[in-house]
This record gives sequence, structure tokens and C-alpha cells, in this order.
Amino acid sequence: MELKEYWSDSYHSRDFKLTRIGFVAIRFRWLVALLIIGIAGWVAVDWWVLDPAHFKLLWKVRLITGVMLTPLLPLSYLCKLNRRWMILSIYSLLGILLTFNLVSLWSFRDGAEIPVGFIAFPYFLLALLGVLPLPVRSGLRVAAVITLATLATDYWLDSRSLSNGDLIDRVWLLLSFSLAMIWVQAGQLRMLLDLYRESTRDPLTRLMNRRLFVRQLEDVRHHSGVDRPYTLILMDLDRFKRINDDHGHLMGDEVLVSVANTIMDIFGPEAVVARYGGEEFMVLLPHTGLEQGQRQAETLRLAVESQPVESPLGEGEVTVTISAGVVEGDHTSELQALLRQADEALYTAKSHGRNCVVAQR
Ligand code: GH3
Ligand code: MG
Ligand code: MG
Repeated sequence: MELKEYWSDSYHSRDFKLTRIGFVAIRFRWLVALLIIGIAGWVAVDWWVLDPAHFKLLWKVRLITGVMLTPLLPLSYLCKLNRRWMILSIYSLLGILLTFNLVSLWSFRDGAEIPVGFIAFPYFLLALLGVLPLPVRSGLRVAAVITLATLATDYWLDSRSLSNGDLIDRVWLLLSFSLAMIWVQAGQLRMLLDLYRESTRDPLTRLMNRRLFVRQLEDVRHHSGVDRPYTLILMDLDRFKRINDDHGHLMGDEVLVSVANTIMDIFGPEAVVARYGGEEFMVLLPHTGLEQGQRQAETLRLAVESQPVESPLGEGEVTVTISAGVVEGDHTSELQALLRQADEALYTAKSHGRNCVVAQR
């Protein structure tokens, strides 16, 4: 994982962004549910610890806080859909809880001793938010909001009694908890990204696997218009079994890596390239019609044919060829039918003697 991927989600792929937001949404929902139960359950502790006047005010404050947190539960289902809902949900949670913190501390303005649970509340909040897999930049913003709101509350409520030493002590404690929160969040993000890559990448060629490819295809189909077609190229190495049999599996693997690299070189970053099966590759070209797709497939076919692959054991080189089927889709296409059509085009290319491209409307 690169450092910049820890920093901001603008360096993540669209698919990973959605995956991560899905995780944040689930954890957020649990967090809100537990906070509602916890804040209500805390009434029992207050009943033991507080004098009747404080208790009378604070149970109402707890009740209102619980009621205000409740709409965040349905909102968490919207957060799954897009980042803006997620940000709104997280900052609404902070707003409600920091207001709760302010009002509960304010209720002790008469000089009564403040139970430690109330003083510890912002630190508890920072610790809890460590469960969200947020990038460092988002974590810093959350930490800044909690730290500044807590310091402002403390300053407003007891600026006269707050000595420089107290202030430094609080700032130090808030910063330590903030760093711990960001560290835990970055750890969660790393774990999520590692698992995501394991489950969506082919370990040999590092291309995306079929599962992620089909999701990307669905996404491109969804966002394409009638006049903005996309093209699929399904290709298969010719007589690949023979290469394995004659030169060994290590050579076979080397050929697969080499062809994958050639595909990546020929098609730009716009293309979606996947290892679709054992020795089958699939390329999705967004905003590309059938003729242009066929031309690009032909360029690739020639490139693969003209680049012999060196044996990793220094036992000479082998030439490999590919056959390809090309089809075009738009937003009305049924994906399974389109994939079947690509398979048929490839089959036709194979039956025409291999090392050729067949486009099918
Ligand atoms: P055709 O031209 O009809 O496609 O013939 P083919 O020999 O390529 O087709 P076939 O489907 O019979 O063989 C595919 C072979 O690909 C069989 C399998 O052992 C090999 N293969 C699949 N995945 C890998 C892999 O990861 N590494 C290696 N070395 N071989 C693989
Ligand atoms: Mg083959
Ligand atoms: Mg095959």
C-alpha cells in the first residue's frame, strides 16, 4: 500500500471507494445503535452517582440525545450509496454528541464535582471512532472537530479556573487520543485494502479478476448512453496447453505475464483489463465502437505475435499467438447475453484457424 493511499481516498479506485463506504456504513450503524443503548443505559449510573437536581436535568438530556441519534440509523443506509451521505452522517453524529458533552458539562457550572465519565466523554468518542476505516486526512478533520469543540467547551465553562498547566494537559491528552484514533483507522483501512486486493486481483499477472471485471462492466454499462457504446474484447491464447507441455508451467506462467503486460501497454489507462480465466483475458473499452475495438484488438494480436517470450530458465524463447472475439454493447445490453456473444465470437476465431480477430454485431 502506498503512503498516499493512507492519506486520502482520492487515490483509491472507484470500486474500492464504494467497498470502503459500505464498510463504514455498517460500522457506523452499529456505533450509533450502541451509543443509543449506552447513553440510555448510563441513566442508571447517573442515578447512583448524581444528586437529584443533576439527575433530573441529565436524564432528559440523555433522552433527547438518544432521540436525535435515532434518524442516523436509517441515514446509514444512504451512506452506503455515496460519500456525501457518509460525511453528513459522521458530522451529524459528532454534532449531536459534542452538544451532549457541552450541555452535560454545563449542568455542573454550579461548581459541583463532575463525575469522571463526563470528563472522559470526548476521549471515549475519539477511541470509538477508531473503528471506522477512514483515510488519515478524514481522520485529522474528525479529530480537529472533536479537539476544538472540547477545548472551546472547557474554555467557555471554566476559563477562570483553567490554568495554563490544565490547558496544556488537556491539549496533550486530546492530541494523544487523536493520534491513536488516526493510527487505528489507518490500520483498518490498510487491512481492508489488502483484503480487497487479495479478492479482486490475480496474483500472477496483477490484473483484476473476473469478479471485479463484471462489476466494472456493470458500472460502465450503467453510465453509458445509447450513442456511447462500449466494446468488449475476449481473447484466448492459442494452443497454450502445448506451451505448458513442451516448455513447462514456469514458461506458461511467464507467457501469461508477458501477454498481460502487452495488453496493458497497448490499451491506455481508460481500458479495463482483466484475467478472465486460466489463459483468457478480457478488455473493456468504454466509449468505443465495434470498428475501433476491432482495430485495437488487431493491433494487440500483432503485438503479441511479434514479441517472443524469453524462458525464465534461459532455455530460449517461444512465440505465442492469441485469438479474439469483439462485441459492442450499450446501456440496454443484457450483460450475460453480451458475454455469451463475445464467447461465440472467440469460438468463431478459433474455428477460423486461430491467430485472428472476429467482430460480431
Ligand atoms: P486453444 O487454442 O483451443 O485455446 O487451445 P489451448 O491449449 O490454449 O486450450 P485449453 O483450454 O485446452 O488449455 C488451456 C491451458 O491453460 C490448460 C491449463 O493447464 C493452462 N493454464 C490455465 N491457467 C494457467 C496458469 O495459471 N499457468 C499455466 N502455466 N497454465 C495455465
Ligand atoms: Mg487457449
Ligand atoms: Mg481457454
